[in-house]
Amino acid sequence: MSTGPLPDKIDHRKFGSDQVELNGMISLARFTRLCGLIENEDGLIHCKLRFKSGRKGKTQVTGQAELSALLICQSCLEVFEFTLAAAIRVCIVPSESAFLDLPPEDDGLVVPDRLVDIVDLVEDELIVALPMVPRHVLEQCEASFKESAPESSTGVDSQKVTETYRPFADLQALQDAE
Ligand SMILES: [Zn+2]
Repeated sequence: MSTGPLPDKIDHRKFGSDQVELNGMISLARFTRLCGLIENEDGLIHCKLRFKSGRKGKTQVTGQAELSALLICQSCLEVFEFTLAAAIRVCIVPSESAFLDLPPEDDGLVVPDRLVDIVDLVEDELIVALPMVPRHVLEQCEASFKESAPESSTGVDSQKVTETYRPFADLQALQDAE
């Protein structure tokens, strides 16, 4: 089983007809959109991908991608390490019309060319897998100690965790004060 670096681009139809299984690493720096959303650019993404030919020139790709991402905890604003993992299930289609024919549960990717970049197969799924509001697990978070302090500097009930918390709300307040 190979766990070395993966090629940048692969021949998806050949991989599909050969039922290739890839298992290896890609440099995180190649994922420019993902790098814009996390705190690290150094590192490796571990990918396991299986290719299978479908009907009408389609290629089904399934597997998983995983990396160690650095995120900023929105409770204490410290950087923490997060295992970002995504299940991959993409159907490569040769044209827009084939894309529209896909059943709604299939994630499609239109690739008219012979080659596809592995980044394009997994980056979207990793971005979707990012937590909406990154936070330490409670017992590792500095803010969880501050919460139990009798005096809160903000006066906000910080123990109440809501899904609508806006991480940049404080920043906006600072800008407004200037
Ligand atoms: Zn924290």
